[in-house]
Amino acid sequence: MKMFMFIFLNILNIKVFGFFLKNNIISRQSVNFLFLQSFPEKCIPTVLNNVHSLNNLVKNIKENDIIELNNYYDKLKPNIEYLSYSELDKVRLSLVIAYYAHYNQKRLSSEKFIIHPYNVAIILSELKCDSDTIIGGILHDTVEDTCVTLNEIERLFGENVRNIVYGVTKVTKCGNENENAYETNLVSMFLSMRNDWRIILVKLADRLHNMRTLEFMEEKKQKKISEETLEIYSPLAHRVGMWNIRNELEDLSFKNLNPMKYKEVVDNRTKIIRNYSENIDILKEKLKNILSKIVPGKYDLEYRTKSIYSAWKKAERNNCEISDLKDLIAIRVIINEDWVFNLAEPSSICFIILSKIHKEWKYVPGTVKDYINFPKQNGYQSLHTTILTENNLPLEIQIRTKKMHNIAENGTAAHWKYKSEKLNKKSVSWLNILDERDKFVSKKSLITSALKLPTIK
Ligand code: MN
Repeated sequence: MKMFMFIFLNILNIKVFGFFLKNNIISRQSVNFLFLQSFPEKCIPTVLNNVHSLNNLVKNIKENDIIELNNYYDKLKPNIEYLSYSELDKVRLSLVIAYYAHYNQKRLSSEKFIIHPYNVAIILSELKCDSDTIIGGILHDTVEDTCVTLNEIERLFGENVRNIVYGVTKVTKCGNENENAYETNLVSMFLSMRNDWRIILVKLADRLHNMRTLEFMEEKKQKKISEETLEIYSPLAHRVGMWNIRNELEDLSFKNLNPMKYKEVVDNRTKIIRNYSENIDILKEKLKNILSKIVPGKYDLEYRTKSIYSAWKKAERNNCEISDLKDLIAIRVIINEDWVFNLAEPSSICFIILSKIHKEWKYVPGTVKDYINFPKQNGYQSLHTTILTENNLPLEIQIRTKKMHNIAENGTAAHWKYKSEKLNKKSVSWLNILDERDKFVSKKSLITSALKLPTIK
């Protein structure tokens, strides 16, 4: 009896769901409501039947597909638990659509194509992006490479997802050979970024995964993509303050364009880090003593090394060796400000800690930088100083609150949560440069000049 009821309810569910889809009165609410009750296995045929461009795939559905789809979802889910139930269901639905849309496509690595949009979604989930961005990431290649249309995407996921997917889709396809087509695509991408900066997040995640899997491409193309990454995408990540992504993009491009130099820098850097390691342990203990008197239990100590590419670039710029860099290694003091600071500005505690540090160690004149009162153009805030360790080795110390730290690490993604329209518009206002009607300057050079931020470091 139970079994019978179960089957009956499921048939009913498919019928009802099909009804909504067929009659085109599907709204986002009705999707949520139905999906909350049973998703995804039983609904897959209905979904495919009702997304016109995927109609012919119903016959392909296999048991294994469903296992694979569930595996993908299960791995993504722990990363996106901050989303609501209905948002989670929509993410799951988008995974089904992308999976079948890219059904027979392979990557150059001979893996299934879905691996790519799926990993883009993983990167976005690590940045704690909202559901529209994650769905946009999952669907980002469907319109360009499959039969799925923008209207279908809008019908299922709403206007925002449509715009995100549209923003990352190439307007003309023959971008590789033809410079004009390349520029048209680039300009259209930057213009849509102005309307919704989440497009930047998807595009950066897309590029990052492509860079991570570059080895399968022919060499000439590898070089071209690496050059483009250094010219457009890493400055873009820098522009919006996404340091982690910027560093990884740069290091991967550098490795590809100049493998010999890359290895040399890596070796040098490792050697220097080894020299420091003993000193750093002693220093950390002392620092902990100081901190536990001022902010007991409310701080984190982190250790970071300058990325390979930026170390190399800085040494080149200053015409010195990697070993001469004073900020190759840095210790970060991150203060959790969510407690007793009713009496003072949270940032003032950073200055108190700075003065204690200066009492304990000698510091290098001219290295103190107050990015708290004078934030960098992309919003970065922190206090910097360089001290001398026991063996007279210079070591940078950065002091910041947790909130400043989150923004410093993830840039736009970190404050994307606050969803402020004003912030959104302001952050991409530099793109207004594209409105200039200068016929003599190419739009591409306008973009690259808009991406440039003064280097203060
Ligand atoms: Mn892609």
